[in-house]
Amino acid sequence: MSALDRPLRGAILAAADNAAVRSAVTRYGMRLGARRFVAGQTAEEFMAVARAANAQGFAVASTILGESVGDREETLEITRRYCVLLRSFAEEGLDANVAFKLTHVGLDIDSALALDNASQIVAAAAESGRTVRMDMEQSRYVDRTLDIFRRLRERYDNVGFVLQSYLYRSADDLASALPLAPNVRIVKGAYLEPPDVAYPDKREVDSNYVRLLETALSHDGYTAVATHDPAMIAHAAEFAAARGVPKQGRFEFQMLYGIATGLARTLLERGYRVRLSIPFGEYWFPYLMRRLAERPANLAFFLKGAFSR
Ligand SMILES: Cc1cc2nc3c(=O)[nH]c(=O)nc-3n(C[C@H](O)[C@H](O)[C@H](O)COP(=O)(O)OP(=O)(O)OC[C@H]3O[C@@H](n4cnc5c(N)ncnc54)[C@H](O)[C@@H]3O)c2cc1C
Repeated sequence: MSALDRPLRGAILAAADNAAVRSAVTRYGMRLGARRFVAGQTAEEFMAVARAANAQGFAVASTILGESVGDREETLEITRRYCVLLRSFAEEGLDANVAFKLTHVGLDIDSALALDNASQIVAAAAESGRTVRMDMEQSRYVDRTLDIFRRLRERYDNVGFVLQSYLYRSADDLASALPLAPNVRIVKGAYLEPPDVAYPDKREVDSNYVRLLETALSHDGYTAVATHDPAMIAHAAEFAAARGVPKQGRFEFQMLYGIATGLARTLLERGYRVRLSIPFGEYWFPYLMRRLAERPANLAFFLKGAFSR
């Protein structure tokens, strides 16, 4: 991120909280550039994109977009939709799993509700031999998310979590999860966090990414290297090769739908397992804003849609 990008990133994430911006983007965004990052609004649209991704050789992680749900009934409905989705993967034999946010299934209401809903999703996935991952949200959720991961891990081995390399605490969190041979996705982190919890300097975020990656790959478990950064990807490939970690079975690369597509294809051609994270649903606004903030150049791409029709 350049010195110019950082304030721009803050401005985009701040604008995401503005009601007028939210209303305008929600109204027109899908017709402008949002489809580059989101498979569509319905499960049918998602399934078509997932089938096409599988046909090209990519594994898929599906996410029903949404977060911070404050209504108990709605969390039950979202849980039900995830279970239906997992059953349709099994029926079609799709190479797909799910990743969801705990605040989508009740973490803002009550941790016990989130645990209960998450257990149902993990149990539905276990029936068809699929994994489930809980995304990592803002730093205030990390303790509760890791606690729920541990509680689920006592009963299931098909559940994984995420660590963000921008957080100072992540190295310790990884160290304490290692005895569980965890399924961990490593990301840089997508939220605006204060300097008392997160490295403000991108170089430190990257160095910590490398440290987390090397630690995870050096221990039992499964590592999802989730980044579009060619330097991180090259390092993961070289480190794994040097340590004799096979290209399949111990780790995979993960990328977001619509980003770095060429790099994803190259990794497939080189024999790696690559999973595309493909989101869908009506509540795509915060997701889109995070993608725009990560790379403010996307804003130009997005707005161009308004003038090219
Ligand atoms: C599969 C997956 C799951 C994720 N899950 C989480 C999660 O649970 N919690 C969380 O906080 N974050 C999550 N993220 C987001 C992550 O934290 C980063 O914000 C995001 O991946 C951008 O960082 P980067 O690693 O690609 O590296 P960067 O250094 O940000 O980018 C490296 C290069 O990648 C390309 N790039 C990166 N982002 C974009 C973009 N939006 N549009 C176009 N090009 C781009 C650019 O070429 C850039 O130079 C996830 C990311 C992935 C890939």
